[in-house]
Amino acid sequence: MTSTSGVLYVVATPIGNLGDITERAKHILQSVSLIAAEDTRHTGRLLQHLGITNKLISLHDHNERQKASFFVEKLSKGNDLALVSDAGTPLISDPGYFLVREVRAAGLKVVPIPGACALISALSASGLATDSFVFEGFLAAKTTARQKQLALLKNEPRTMVFYESTHRILDSLNDMSNVLGEDRLATVARELTKTFETINTDSLKNLIRWMEEDSDQKRGEFVVIVSGNPNSLTSEESEADRLVDIISTKLPLAQATSLTAEITGERKKTLYQRALLRRDES
Ligand code: SAM
Repeated sequence: MTSTSGVLYVVATPIGNLGDITERAKHILQSVSLIAAEDTRHTGRLLQHLGITNKLISLHDHNERQKASFFVEKLSKGNDLALVSDAGTPLISDPGYFLVREVRAAGLKVVPIPGACALISALSASGLATDSFVFEGFLAAKTTARQKQLALLKNEPRTMVFYESTHRILDSLNDMSNVLGEDRLATVARELTKTFETINTDSLKNLIRWMEEDSDQKRGEFVVIVSGNPNSLTSEESEADRLVDIISTKLPLAQATSLTAEITGERKKTLYQRALLRRDES
């Protein structure tokens, strides 16, 4: 990187309410040489609203790889550039990953201009645990693939965040209920920052009923947040349980748990109680 190289600014834009644009974002969008936008017409309307005139060039999932070198060259020649998507923070279920990776690989500077992001907005108002969460983006469109993805998340202890569209919201909630359990606490955050913003936290079963009874609730853009599985085990704990199960086919349970406790360092009593629970459930 030379002192004369330009900077790539990754600029967050509103997810509905145009009042959520930041002062810094406005300043950057006005001052850079060029704005790379997911949809130039869409961003053109935002710029018009902000009274900004600047050059726009399209950068979307289908041309990002071809165009990256063009942007790297522009930056190397000292031009500052901005990257925006249609809504919220670029790269978050939006284009830009390849470009940012290439720009950084070329030793050039990337600066985030933070702002709206649907997942963070939804999480902050959900009332579900926020200390540790996992963002899953969009689930698969086809039912079988979607159910497989959810099955892998059944024992996820962290809060899970998904994006969903109006076409699939009810199918996805039904799959979540079937695979993760109908009593799992979840949040549906719909049309955030817009006129019909609705944020509802309840069991998956009740959320489905509510949406079926009021079809307006199926309209718009959604973030779905599902609480983690409180009973899930760490990989070490699962491995210890596996040992207990194998050893107890040859020895009495008390001996199997005591031996496993010695091997793994887990408490014998805890191993024993979990083994009894597994026996009750089977
Ligand atoms: N980059 C964006 C961000 O920072 O949130 C997300 C882009 S992704 C292509 C679009 C998805 O984000 C929508 O389908 C929806 O799941 C979610 N989303 C975007 N705006 C939203 C809003 N106002 N309310 C609820 N969900 C929204």
